[in-house]
Amino acid sequence: MRRPLIAANWKMNLNLAQSRELARQIRSAISADPALAGAVDFAICPPAVYLHTVVEACRGASISVGAQNIYFEAAGAFTGEISAAMVADIGAELVILGHSERRHVIGHHEDDRMINLKLRAAMASSLTPILCVGETLAERDAGATLDVLTFQITAGLSGIDLRDASRLVVAYEPVWAIGTGRNATPQQAQEAHDHLRRQIRRIAGDHADEIRILYGGSLKPDNAAAIFSQPDIDGGLIGGASLKAESFLGIAAAALSAHR
Ligand code: PEP
Repeated sequence: MRRPLIAANWKMNLNLAQSRELARQIRSAISADPALAGAVDFAICPPAVYLHTVVEACRGASISVGAQNIYFEAAGAFTGEISAAMVADIGAELVILGHSERRHVIGHHEDDRMINLKLRAAMASSLTPILCVGETLAERDAGATLDVLTFQITAGLSGIDLRDASRLVVAYEPVWAIGTGRNATPQQAQEAHDHLRRQIRRIAGDHADEIRILYGGSLKPDNAAAIFSQPDIDGGLIGGASLKAESFLGIAAAALSAHR
């Protein structure tokens, strides 16, 4: 059985003191709850400048720390970018790749080729990538959701050796549900996750059963239980609700009950 992963994406929020304090609160709540710590994996992805602080705050606790992005080159004249090796060097273990805000909101918009190069760089290092995929509202309304997911997962995983597939994490994040307060129904989410797992099986064979597929999009403590009760949903990637320990841990508690 796949262990649920509950991952916080702090995006461009919090300052240094707030990052340290929120990591401390999450850490102490997890250590005070052996059932939770024993059954659920945790990750925190702070802004890059606070990665080291959060790595230190989580040292010795079973919480992985991750970056929200990397560049695919190893080193060189790439002003403002950070490499997979740099993220690993400071003790972080994960990286979010292809987040919808990087695909659709920021700068020149990352395409699937760029995301694939970054995924290759992460897999070639020791980092665990969380590959985000998801359709826009226009794509859903046009009935293209499953085709979009097929394309994004196929392009994202192109050329990746999936023998060590259990390290890879995929996140289904419908763009229309991110930060909007509108989340997919459990049935819509399960349909997408089931489709993604079938596509991963086409590419990686039975390794597909090892890969965790997280749901992300306006998860809250009161909607998480229904989402996590679906068979192909293996945890969550959480934005807004991860900025308060209480709501983040409330979502983790829902994952624990669903996977008991
Ligand atoms: C996210 O940023 O990955 C996300 C799911 O955000 P939110 O929970 O705020 O919708």
